[in-house]
Amino acid sequence: GSSFSHPVCCGIRVRGEGAVLTRASGRPDDWFESDGTMTKQPVRALTLSALAPRDGEHLWDIGGGSGSVCIEWLLSHPSLTAATIEPRADRSERIRANADRLGQDRLQIVTGEAPDALAGLPPPDAVFIGGGLSEDLLAWLAGNLAPGTRIVANAVTLESETVLVRAHAARGGTLLRFEMSRAAPLGKRTGWKAAYPLVQWSVAL
Ligand code: SAH
Repeated sequence: GSSFSHPVCCGIRVRGEGAVLTRASGRPDDWFESDGTMTKQPVRALTLSALAPRDGEHLWDIGGGSGSVCIEWLLSHPSLTAATIEPRADRSERIRANADRLGQDRLQIVTGEAPDALAGLPPPDAVFIGGGLSEDLLAWLAGNLAPGTRIVANAVTLESETVLVRAHAARGGTLLRFEMSRAAPLGKRTGWKAAYPLVQWSVAL
């Protein structure tokens, strides 16, 4: 549920009655309703940095999930627009609710699977792949999008990481691997709780 009524939300200082929404990407996870499938705050910050939104640009967010990535794209500037592609209807409905709650009306939600659902959509300046990554999808993007279109893909599994390692060998770009840990209770003391390592590939077509 939303925690806007809490006096302090994830370290956000509250002025008067409402929580203050930071300008920076990587907003607190509890601003977004989710079923647990969501790009979490530190990785979302790194992802928006790699997507590098510029005024007036259009994003394709493939594998919308909760919509946190495309909503943060839209929050970056009022001139930005986005389409998100998500096969699960329960998730695409949640994306709409999250977008409405954060005041966004510049988001097209497509309930369908990439790459099939991409044909005919207004072309993007940048593409994020947070789900549905495959060699077929990358080949479709390379074959159908304009030179210069920026692609950012995140992988957690060995299978999707393999797709990115091969794509990097074939097309270049930047391949990063993030290992993140958070201090958490360990018995009566505190230990580092590791997240799955994340591989991120960025390239301009
Ligand atoms: N970035 C999202 C989380 C993505 S999880 C967020 O922050 O909430 C990956 C998502 O990709 C899942 O919701 C899954 O349903 C979706 N997905 C899986 N295969 C897909 C495909 N072929 N095309 C589009 N989305 C797909």
